[in-house]
Amino acid sequence: MLKLTGIKKDYITSSETVHALKGVDLCFRQSEFVSVLGPSGCGKTTLLNIIGGLDHYTEGDLVINGRSTKSYRDRDWDVYRNHRIGFIFQSYNLIPHQSVLGNVELALTISGIGKEERIARAKEALDKVGLAGQYYKRPNQLSGGQCQRVAIARALVNNPEILLADEPTGALDTVTSTQIMELVKEISKERLVIMVTHNPELAERYSSRIIRLLDGQVIEDTNPMTEEEVEAETRELAEAEEAERAALEALSAPEKKKAIKAKRRRREKAKMSFFTAFKLSARNLWSKRARTAMVGFAGSIGIIGIAMVLSFSAGIKGYIASMQDDMLSGNPVMIQQTTLDLGTLTGMVNKAMSEEEKLPGMVYVSSLVEYIIKSGDAVITNDISDEYIKYVSSMPKEYYNAMLFSYGINMVHNVFVDFKATPDSEPEHMSVKQITDIYKELLKDTEQSGMSRFVDMLAPTLQQAPNNPDYILTQYDLLGNSKIATEKDEVMLVLDFDDQLTDLLLARFGYFSEVEFIEIINKANSELENEKNGTDVEYNESLYRDYFTYEELLDKTITWYPNDTIFRSQTVERPGFGPNAQPTTTVTGSFISTFDEKQETGLDLKVVGILVPKEGISFGALTSGIYYTEALTEHMLEANRDSEFIDAFITPDLDNTSAYKNITYDYSYYAADAFDGDRIKEDAVKTEVKGASMLTGNAESLLRALGGNDVPNGVSVFPTSFDDKYLVTDYLDRWNDKDVDITVDGEVIAGKDRSNVTYTDTLEIIVFMINTMIDIISYALIAFTSVSLIVSTVMIGIITYVSVVERIKEIGVIRSLGGRKRDVSRLFNAETFIIGAFAGLLGIGISVLVSFVLSRGLQPLIGYANIARLPWEQAVMLIVLSILLTSISGVLPARSAAKKDPVVALRTE
Ligand code: ADP
Ligand code: MG
Repeated sequence: MLKLTGIKKDYITSSETVHALKGVDLCFRQSEFVSVLGPSGCGKTTLLNIIGGLDHYTEGDLVINGRSTKSYRDRDWDVYRNHRIGFIFQSYNLIPHQSVLGNVELALTISGIGKEERIARAKEALDKVGLAGQYYKRPNQLSGGQCQRVAIARALVNNPEILLADEPTGALDTVTSTQIMELVKEISKERLVIMVTHNPELAERYSSRIIRLLDGQVIEDTNPMTEEEVEAETRELAEAEEAERAALEALSAPEKKKAIKAKRRRREKAKMSFFTAFKLSARNLWSKRARTAMVGFAGSIGIIGIAMVLSFSAGIKGYIASMQDDMLSGNPVMIQQTTLDLGTLTGMVNKAMSEEEKLPGMVYVSSLVEYIIKSGDAVITNDISDEYIKYVSSMPKEYYNAMLFSYGINMVHNVFVDFKATPDSEPEHMSVKQITDIYKELLKDTEQSGMSRFVDMLAPTLQQAPNNPDYILTQYDLLGNSKIATEKDEVMLVLDFDDQLTDLLLARFGYFSEVEFIEIINKANSELENEKNGTDVEYNESLYRDYFTYEELLDKTITWYPNDTIFRSQTVERPGFGPNAQPTTTVTGSFISTFDEKQETGLDLKVVGILVPKEGISFGALTSGIYYTEALTEHMLEANRDSEFIDAFITPDLDNTSAYKNITYDYSYYAADAFDGDRIKEDAVKTEVKGASMLTGNAESLLRALGGNDVPNGVSVFPTSFDDKYLVTDYLDRWNDKDVDITVDGEVIAGKDRSNVTYTDTLEIIVFMINTMIDIISYALIAFTSVSLIVSTVMIGIITYVSVVERIKEIGVIRSLGGRKRDVSRLFNAETFIIGAFAGLLGIGISVLVSFVLSRGLQPLIGYANIARLPWEQAVMLIVLSILLTSISGVLPARSAAKKDPVVALRTE
């Protein structure tokens, strides 16, 4: 029984207060067909909405089955609407993007009823209203009468006690109207139907009771409930309640609990699961898929930007990581006598000055001196002691591939090769130093005289190879019939990529005859001249050597001589220097080396190996040049340590030390004009030259250059792998941990008073620097691309808002069917969630595709297959970010949708 007592409803607008209902008292029977008649604006819809719990009364009370609704909360109204009320409207209010079945299902969906039951019940309801077989049509494929039948099915599907109809036939023709009225009348047999209508005829014909409204008041009621009826219904109600209670009491305790629970569950059911909201929104988005696709694509642009930056960042880091082991062999961990602490070299010379601080016309002084003094700590002098060497040598073998000790030896004076003026002339025995000087002289005579100074610098001399053939063979291939040098009298040639060696290196070691080298210069000059002036300069192409055979390279013998063979003490004249030149002084103790024939004391070094870097090796342990063995180093140190030169050098009065640095030697050569083609001219004479070689550096380094110190001044350790490099560095760090003594084989070799030794881990610094750089660049780029992400977020917010406006009818329908505010906001949150997920997935998909294509495209260029690849964690993160951002953008529109007054929403056209 439904009872209205003194119901008033005021609408407060900005200009006035409308009293839509001015005190309505009405009682309705359990089942009857009531028609409400009255002129437009008299409050019929308002009355209906209040009865339906869609709108709330300002004053009075609505008593439902004996219970007042004064204390009803939103939730209670929602449940009430969902379970007890069915609404039909003049304009049907069907949701256009749902099928007929979907529209009817909606009421059950909101109740949270399972799919199978939902479909069965919806079909049943549709069958009842005569729409069997039309389940999957869209509302716009139906006639008005059919639409209203769908609406009736929707209103009835939840089996409500009350059916409220607001001018259900207002938009229909007479024939259809009659059909609908028949249907409604049928329905009213077992429930209360309250119908608002304009049409008194229809009302008279079908309804059992007519209520006339005028100006917010009931002016006529043809069949009001009598006192007895009210009493009888009240009693019936009380009895029913009593019976229910009695039935409950009769149950055993656990059954009772179950029954109460079941009842409560029924009550609580007016709610939509997030999954349902999801499906409803998905269907809506699907119905506007072109727009959805565009919105998703716009939303994905920011994601694509960030994903691409992350792809490249990860790809480049991966590329660096893939090169780490390769780079490691070219950048061993090094301990040197003096080394720069790169960590402290961060200061800048220039003072930071703002434009305001600067005065015009002034030049400011920067603090170079201060910088040098302050960064004095940056230059580290390591005390490489015998103990330290012993400690390093005791490093477990599995930590490293090779360990290379350096002694600061420079062999240019000690090494001699055969040198020819022309390919056919008699070879002369000359030191690498002398040959180098000859080529410098020849260059001086050309237009490229400036270049002559760089010959020493550009062409490497002999170096020692790490003593681990297996390690070398992991990076280098042996060419021809060659092998790795292992003995003291063996050396090997290490080629550059593409099997090449520089002309200067080959020239220094006498592989070219003099005239052939001149031809190299001529050719270069001729080409240069041609470029500049277009004039042809003749050069003899037949003398130009482009390649050597393995046999020619392997055929070379390089002879090493001990100091005592090369240097002899003499007294020399030393001219004064400078503008105030002092008179020439005579200095005893300088050394002059001079011989031009092979001596017996020489040790012949055979080139036994030609090495070329393996495919994929970019940074081998050896750079191109000539390499000798550790055995030769030991032999040289042994032979030279006690040489006359070294003895004299260690013992003299210190005033003379500088004199020893000046090594002079004589040589003669044919100047460029001494040749006629590949022959020496008949009348050509050799030019005599007094060569002087200033051994640079301090007394210590001079001594070392000539093999005078057999304690290493440096160590290079080649760790087994980049990942295990820490084993080496940890081991070296232990020396600097002064809390413990250093022991080797159980014997203490250095106490706690030892001095620190700082090693240089160049690769670590390089990798760290590169990675930091990549990070910084990535962050900057991400910051840029984030702008588009923000833009798309805002855009999605706006579009969601538009969608709210578009779907306002749907919001009203959902609310009238008992949907909670939260269900409505869920609907829109689900929509933004879907868009966010779609945008994210689309963005990631596009990025992965583009990354793949770019990676493959760039592979031939950089030799790495994955220069752009998005780590899956970041991909997931970006999708989550996309969902999160769009969800946030949807929060406000969703909330505004939830707040929409259902009455207003339904009135909106
Ligand atoms: P009917 O359905 O009988 O045509 P209504 O119940 O729709 O009349 O309206 C009753 C009165 O209340 C009308 O004067 C109408 O303008 C007014 N009214 C209805 N809803 C609102 C509202 N939301 N705000 C202000 N006035 C309203
Ligand atoms: Mg109305």
